[in-house]
Amino acid sequence: PMMKYSNRTKNSYREMEKAANYLPGGVTANIKHFSPYPVVMESAGGAWIKDVDGNQYIDYLMAYGSLALGHGHDDIKQAMADQLAKDGTVLFGTPHPLEYRFAEKIQAYYPSMERLRYTNSGTEATLLAIRLATAYTGKKRIAKFEGHYHGGYNEVLYSINPPLVAAGEMDDPRPVPESSGLEMFTDQRPVILPFNRWQATERLLRQHADELAAVIIEPVQGGFIPAEKQFIEDLRKLTATLQIALIFDEVKTGFRVAMGGAQELYGVKPDLTTLGKVVGGGFPIGIVGGKEAILNRSRPKGNGDVFDVGQGKSSAAREILFHSGTYNGHPTILAAGLAAIHRLEQDFAHTVLYTETMRKDIEALGRKNGIPLKAVGVGTIFNVVCTETTIRHYRDLQKTDLELRKQIDFHLLNEGIYTKPLNRYSISTAHGERELELTLTAYETVLKRVFKK
Ligand code: PMP
Repeated sequence: PMMKYSNRTKNSYREMEKAANYLPGGVTANIKHFSPYPVVMESAGGAWIKDVDGNQYIDYLMAYGSLALGHGHDDIKQAMADQLAKDGTVLFGTPHPLEYRFAEKIQAYYPSMERLRYTNSGTEATLLAIRLATAYTGKKRIAKFEGHYHGGYNEVLYSINPPLVAAGEMDDPRPVPESSGLEMFTDQRPVILPFNRWQATERLLRQHADELAAVIIEPVQGGFIPAEKQFIEDLRKLTATLQIALIFDEVKTGFRVAMGGAQELYGVKPDLTTLGKVVGGGFPIGIVGGKEAILNRSRPKGNGDVFDVGQGKSSAAREILFHSGTYNGHPTILAAGLAAIHRLEQDFAHTVLYTETMRKDIEALGRKNGIPLKAVGVGTIFNVVCTETTIRHYRDLQKTDLELRKQIDFHLLNEGIYTKPLNRYSISTAHGERELELTLTAYETVLKRVFKK
């Protein structure tokens, strides 16, 4: 397959070589790289993406799940054009009405977000959620779950994909840094919790209760490993008792596992929620919201005056939680996000059914060809795991046949099915019957010809 790959992607190779003269590794984010070199894309439309050699792929990466309507959806382009024409500017840098109108729409699906603020990425949203929790509780540490991702900054950059030899006991996981350059921040190491293992989680939370400002969780890990219902309910109860803020990071799960995210699915209300990806319609955004009493920590009030931000001069102003951002609440992006949500209001239920069909069909092909393969997920995201057993957490996932999965991915790439090796599948409203058929045909080819024992 390597030979076929390098023959098909000659221009990608050349482009990556040129890019590497300017960008470390030729990429703008480490995750965009894979071996031997990534495919360089040139154009896209709907469910399809085309590389610089002219190969066409059905896209399941969908910009890491951001493109709920597929590439270049007319609703989004139109909404942005209308907004630009109506406003006569690209950016106000002042309050404008769409900021609260968009908030109203978000709150309709996420009633736990009594107040909210916009950021420019999911990373900033979780960062702000943690700062809010810290200010509110007066405590100084956070807990996160092994295998969960919340962005790329110091407090949360631990134990996302740790080698098991370094990660300690299953029920007493150690924080493993995911990056060099964190030395300055070692005293901010989070407490690491084992996902879907209640007894250990309860023990660790009780043990550290006095220092924990927040527990942050992907309620559906990676968008495809759901928390068990009892686990998430117990976590809600215990964090409330111990006065630890519960943060649902729904950057992946928002408008994916359900329109109202995991909190709708489980019927559980977190104290704070973060959103991103889908809500920006493909443009940079993050949202942090939650209990009014917590969010109001960031309410500008200065010396008791609601409209006096104090400019950081008085001590009262310093008690206000700092949140800023030149581009926060960007009108063009909010217009794009609103268009995406409006379209999903029509098409989401159908896309969920379509995704379920695809999952069942892929699993059936696995069985037919004697390959242990599960398509696990919720709503419009899933992942393909090579195993016969149920996946409940990061360590289960590590025990699956990751090498086989990578091989399947690589062969599928050659057959015109695009996802980054090992990445989850994000389904858009643009994926239709034809794409399903072509995908299954490609799977059949790959599983049958290449892997049948
Ligand atoms: N939290 C979760 C659960 C995510 O999946 C991501 C992005 N993959 C982030 C936070 C960070 O979002 P962003 O890449 O927009 O900073």
